[in-house]
Amino acid sequence: MTTRVRTVDAARPEAEVMADAAAIIRRGGLVAFPTETVYGLGAAALDAEAVQRIFDAKGRPSTDPLIVHIAGVDHLATVAREVPPVALTLAQHYWPGPLTLVLPKHAVVPLVVTAGRDTVAVRVPAHPVARALIEACGVPIAAPSANRFSRPSPTTAAHVVDELQGRVDLVLDAGPATIGVESTIVDCSVSPPRLLRHGGVTREQLLDDVPDLLVVARSGDARESQAAPGQLLRHYAPSAPLTLVVGGETAVRTRLVDEARRLAATGERVGILAPEEDVLAVTPPLTALAASGRVLLQAYGRRAEPASAARDLFAALRALDARGPTVLLASGIGDEGIGAAVRDRLSRAAEGRVVVVTPAC
Ligand code: AMP
Ligand code: MG
Repeated sequence: MTTRVRTVDAARPEAEVMADAAAIIRRGGLVAFPTETVYGLGAAALDAEAVQRIFDAKGRPSTDPLIVHIAGVDHLATVAREVPPVALTLAQHYWPGPLTLVLPKHAVVPLVVTAGRDTVAVRVPAHPVARALIEACGVPIAAPSANRFSRPSPTTAAHVVDELQGRVDLVLDAGPATIGVESTIVDCSVSPPRLLRHGGVTREQLLDDVPDLLVVARSGDARESQAAPGQLLRHYAPSAPLTLVVGGETAVRTRLVDEARRLAATGERVGILAPEEDVLAVTPPLTALAASGRVLLQAYGRRAEPASAARDLFAALRALDARGPTVLLASGIGDEGIGAAVRDRLSRAAEGRVVVVTPAC
């Protein structure tokens, strides 16, 4: 299969480009498209064969269900057979936006979409290109992140092309994703509702609407059993083993420096993935090792601006990976707000190797 890439205006998607993309989806093909969270790999959600192509292209296990993207809250009844009041409240509050709701599945949704479950995950994306695509298709679009299974999610069209060239019909390029981590997932098919994945809408925001929200997804140590199907411990995997260091800022920086020196002395090429403030703090003691290429420093966003850390995380992880480290160390931005989503993704990239140096302060 030849993969075409087309640029599209992020704010005002060209009708001709969207008609091209919609025609591919309607005839059962695959289109990678931007959303405000990450790039998605889309197919017609009610066409089981088309949906199967998503799993084949990604190498994704059939046990890992997909998110169905719809045009608006009015379309909910076409994919969900029941919408509890709390789900409607959340939908009205956060849609379009980075919140996915798990609801009892409508019979028209094929079981391949939901990995055999009786529930379906649904979202209304906010990105104008995603919205235009769903509207031009006139059908719901099933779309997981547009990466090969267990790799970091793509936040640019180039990331998609790197991994899915020859496996997808069309990639729509509208520039980098603005949120940068995947949607928050809330299971509203159970009472009380359960937070399954941290994401663009924060736990703190959700508690305003859902005071009894059960937080199943922990944001720190990912060694717990899967909170949701597909929320595997091994996820977002870089090519070198990563250890996440969490705790108070000063203690974290001290540990990054000590560990980098120790590992470099054993012949490792040590990659450090950290917010800009941490990178600046560890640079002076590591200058010589950085100059000789034994330590590779890579910043992702700023602690002072948490949204920038979420936005840049996956691209920075890929960029650091490409510099050829043999071992990786990372620090997060705390556990509040979007920090919980960043920490969750880093602890999954670390496959549970999380070192707590002091209690967070
Ligand atoms: P992705 O879009 O690649 O982040 O993958 C979608 C994720 O949504 C899956 O990995 C699951 O964790 C979650 N998901 C999808 N459908 C359901 C469902 N019916 N119940 C619980 N979680 C779901
Ligand atoms: Mg994914």
